[in-house]
Amino acid sequence: MTMQLPRVMADGPLAPIILESLQGEVIWVPWSTTATHNDVVALYTYGHPRVDGPLLDRFPGLRVISNYGVGVDHIDLAAAAARKIPVGNTPGILDGATADMGFALLLSTARRVVEGDHYARSPEFTTYDPGYMLGYEVHGATLGIIGLGRIGAQVAKRGRGFDMRVLYHNRHRRPETEAAVGAQYRSLDELLATSDYVMLCCPLNDATRGLINRQTLARMKPSAVLINIARGGVVETQDLYEALATKRIAAAGLDVTEPEPLPREHPLLKLPNVVIVPHLGSATIQTRRRMAELSIENLRAGLAGRPITHEVRA
Ligand code: NDP
Repeated sequence: MTMQLPRVMADGPLAPIILESLQGEVIWVPWSTTATHNDVVALYTYGHPRVDGPLLDRFPGLRVISNYGVGVDHIDLAAAAARKIPVGNTPGILDGATADMGFALLLSTARRVVEGDHYARSPEFTTYDPGYMLGYEVHGATLGIIGLGRIGAQVAKRGRGFDMRVLYHNRHRRPETEAAVGAQYRSLDELLATSDYVMLCCPLNDATRGLINRQTLARMKPSAVLINIARGGVVETQDLYEALATKRIAAAGLDVTEPEPLPREHPLLKLPNVVIVPHLGSATIQTRRRMAELSIENLRAGLAGRPITHEVRA
């Protein structure tokens, strides 16, 4: 009798390491949100496909959802829990890489690295001028972190390494992390009003959706820089565009946007005081490999009916 391999539906195209690791172990089924699949036993979410109750109802035999990444805002956790389907993610191994990207965006916005790069390559650069492209100082400045969790703590350490004063805001104070990374707790209003750099490191959820909007942007210093390494939906895109276009705040560094990608004609993409990268927070060779390994570990555990190594609870 031939053994039936488990059928796993994935959005792709999947990275070669994932395909190679699971070769001969699973049968991949292309992502489909319309048909009912009695034989599919797992979902593997690689990009950020929406997984909600109506979708889950099309998979009566589902044993596990394995997500490649930490952010699970695209998955309705309550709907999965109601159907007793465990959800796995990949926390703790991408903190350093994502914090590094936060700092790359902070430094490049503050010191106008991208603008400078374009200028240095252009025909206009014929004479050095000590008066051009003055940026903002990073050392000695105040960094405000919204969401001092695993990634936020790594950002705080980098801030201290750059001789910055580090503030943070969470819903709950974290005295041990405060002591470990040298961060001081502030209310959201105080953090916004006193930070030179505001870095978003929180999850996207009902409480954080649109947290940065016209009102909260108005509380920031005109010289402040906003960095978003969380999720695009934490920021109201139109409000951010207006704040940047009118110089209500100085600049923004964006790893993530809402929508993602932005429409190619979006005016935000034309602003010189924005540095934007295409969701590269965890995009290093080493980190992406670890993410693949953890997500595969979660998938295998779920398929075997074992507890998921990194289970996300609603
Ligand atoms: P953690 O759960 O470790 O930390 C999240 C922190 O956010 C917690 O300290 C939490 O504290 C805080 N938080 C949650 N809700 C709020 C709120 N309403 N206001 C203020 N603070 C809040 O998560 P990670 O650090 O591992 O990841 C954070 C997010 O980063 C992920 O959810 C994901 O969306 C994003 N991410 C982005 C990546 C990228 O490529 N750009 C890569 C990886 C992750 P408390 O509960 O006390 O409020």
